[in-house]
Amino acid sequence: MEYHKHFAQNLDNIRQEGRYRYFMPLEKIMGKYPKALWHDEQKVKEITIWCSNDYLAMGQDERVIKAAQDALASQGAGAGGTRNIAGTNNLHVELENKIAKLHFKEAALTYSSGWVSNMAGLSALSQVIPDLIYISDAANHNSMIAGIRAAGTKKFIFKHNDMEDLERILKSLPIEAPKIIVFESVYSMDGAISPMEEICDLAEKYQAMTWLDEVHAVGLYGRQGGGKSDEFGLSDRITFIEGTLAKAIGNVGGYVAGSKEAIDVLRSFGHGFIFSTALPPSVVAGASAAIDIIMSAEGKVLRMQHQKQASRTRERLKEEGFPVKETLSHIIPLMVCDPVKCKEVADILIRDYHIYVQPINYPTVARGTERLRLTPSPYHTDNDIENLIHCLIDLRNKEGQ
Ligand code: PLP
Repeated sequence: MEYHKHFAQNLDNIRQEGRYRYFMPLEKIMGKYPKALWHDEQKVKEITIWCSNDYLAMGQDERVIKAAQDALASQGAGAGGTRNIAGTNNLHVELENKIAKLHFKEAALTYSSGWVSNMAGLSALSQVIPDLIYISDAANHNSMIAGIRAAGTKKFIFKHNDMEDLERILKSLPIEAPKIIVFESVYSMDGAISPMEEICDLAEKYQAMTWLDEVHAVGLYGRQGGGKSDEFGLSDRITFIEGTLAKAIGNVGGYVAGSKEAIDVLRSFGHGFIFSTALPPSVVAGASAAIDIIMSAEGKVLRMQHQKQASRTRERLKEEGFPVKETLSHIIPLMVCDPVKCKEVADILIRDYHIYVQPINYPTVARGTERLRLTPSPYHTDNDIENLIHCLIDLRNKEGQ
């Protein structure tokens, strides 16, 4: 086989489909979020970021940076090993206790990313329950799909957020069959919120465990920032709560929280946990400082401001007749529904208007549902929002779209 020719052919194919991925080299400007510098091929330009998952700009918070710097200075750069072999640090233990509290759980375990926590956690379960049946929402993130596939046991997919379909599947299975319902609280690409209470009711009725991905909700919802399960007061009815340290917590890494036994099983059986180096002390300290802020009174204020600016952005887009998907979360999908056009609009926005919003295409979303995914932060001012609206209107007038 002519391997490199084959590689080039495949890359050409995705270029032709308009879904080749171009990275945007950004230089963050500490303390000036959502402004950043874009390293264009010709020059460096200041732009406004409209698509970051550093939802609360914790990645640029002085206290988070200081905690990370102190840990780096006092404990060095890397963890030095897997958690089992010289890689566990006092800071890991402290952070895991904090995460457990954040989600009203007994214990938590950190991983190198949110992707790994879903993949390694879900697949570990089938090692201790070999006939475990996974029942997964059709819109679940790739990391959960990968974990369920790796588990290698029976699986069922229910229609996105459709409780009748979920119950149909549960009813078809023997009550004594071990099963787990896998779902998200806030869906990452369309911002839809799952009917968590109904899922908990069904799980209890049909004796299933639950695995909840709170990646896009932790820090942003709930009385103490514990996500939608915290907001709805349902944390104790969920078996596993999975989250990330990389979005509202502003660092990197993932975790799962649950009962002592449940977490001990993930710790003892999950290959993506056992065989990978632990998170570095600086990251762990930074994440820990961010969780302190999130759980404090200041965190509540940030969450309110975040919701306010997200609603304002959505309402203004709707007022001006832009096709935004109706959601009750902070994620605002501006639908373009064509991969080539989506990339074209994003290119013009950054080049001519200094607005950065990444085009989202297949396989992140289904073909024909390509979109610009806007994620306002508490730090996007009313002026930033009006400027975005003004630029989009100008672009629409020029393009005649
Ligand atoms: N779960 C969902 C729903 C996500 O959207 C993502 C990433 O965007 C992940 C898990 C993975 O998290 P991480 O970025 O920490 O790997």
